[in-house]
Amino acid sequence: MTDLSMGKGCDALALASVRGIAAYQTGKPIAELARETGIAESDIVKLASNENPLGMSPSAMAAAAAALNELARYPDGAGFDLKAALSGRFGLSPAQIVLGNGSNDVLDIVGRVFLGPGTSAVYSQHAFAVYGLVCQTVGAERIEVPARDYGHDLAAMRAAIRPDTRIVWIANPNNPTGTLLAPEAVREFIFSLPEHVVAVLDEAYTEYLTPAQRGDSLAWVREHPRLLVTRTFAKIHGLAGLRVGFGVGEPTLIDLCNRVRQPFNVNSLALAAAVAALGDEDFVTRSAAANREGMAQMCAGLDALGVPYIPSAGNFVAVEVGDAAMVNAGLLQHGVIVRPVAGYGMPRHLRVSIGLPHENQRFLDVLAGLLKRD
Ligand SMILES: *Cc1c(COP(=O)(O)O)cnc(C)c1O
Repeated sequence: MTDLSMGKGCDALALASVRGIAAYQTGKPIAELARETGIAESDIVKLASNENPLGMSPSAMAAAAAALNELARYPDGAGFDLKAALSGRFGLSPAQIVLGNGSNDVLDIVGRVFLGPGTSAVYSQHAFAVYGLVCQTVGAERIEVPARDYGHDLAAMRAAIRPDTRIVWIANPNNPTGTLLAPEAVREFIFSLPEHVVAVLDEAYTEYLTPAQRGDSLAWVREHPRLLVTRTFAKIHGLAGLRVGFGVGEPTLIDLCNRVRQPFNVNSLALAAAVAALGDEDFVTRSAAANREGMAQMCAGLDALGVPYIPSAGNFVAVEVGDAAMVNAGLLQHGVIVRPVAGYGMPRHLRVSIGLPHENQRFLDVLAGLLKRD
């Protein structure tokens, strides 16, 4: 019989840096849990991916629907309309903006501009997983700095910078801990960085902050040539499924990012919906208010159960449940999906997104039942 084997697979051929990557763990889809447990999708509560429980702005939905007619054509690779809308909204020039297929794409783009073998990047323990993944993908060394009370220790991060360091990642607020740095501290840190380092300030949750908590980071880029601020339409704007985010920096930095970017990285529906979402300030205000109320409900419920959690400035909270794998399995059995964060070095926590009042209550009730049992 002829041996049709094609020989060895390609695992051994892959870069060692890539073989070492543990794939990003996403929140479990509702349909998957329904298939696994037989629980009806309508009875499942998903508080796992920091999505907006109010959905999206109706005008964003209408704009995406209207754009369906044009899907046979490539999107505007320059994103003219969205950059114009962002410029108007934030007082920027379009040359200061790079668009991304989600802000994760922007994080990946800036990583590929500055990182590679022989370079390193600094970030905090328990910081957003994508920073480490980007480093590994391009073969840069990861310098993970121990956190302080689950938050970024800026002095230690500053001290960890080496001559080969090219990027310092800062998540404010951070995911999955929800920890927040004061705007003055972030500004001072960024402006104290040596000239061979680019600061990437990831502000995926900034719209949930109060004005006092929020720094004027988009204005800082005018004074700082090595600062990239990233934002997303996935969180408060409720467009997670469309994949759209952006980065703001000085034009030279943005030009470098645009060279690395895929030419049509943001699709037509996302471009149209994002413009409309930006215009619906009322939806953003309502979403922030709903999150504040939901967070208060969640924290009061946890306090009543005597379950500790990390105070959060985002739309989620890291809850210290003890044996998180076991509690997570129990929650899933009862149709509640949250996010295990053992991969973030937090095996005793579960990250719970703030949902609608009945969803938050469902989580609290199921958790109470599980904790009573043991
Ligand atoms: C959710 C999130 C992002 C954004 O993700 P996209 O959906 O790719 O825009 C970026 N940074 C942090 C810290 C996040 O939690």
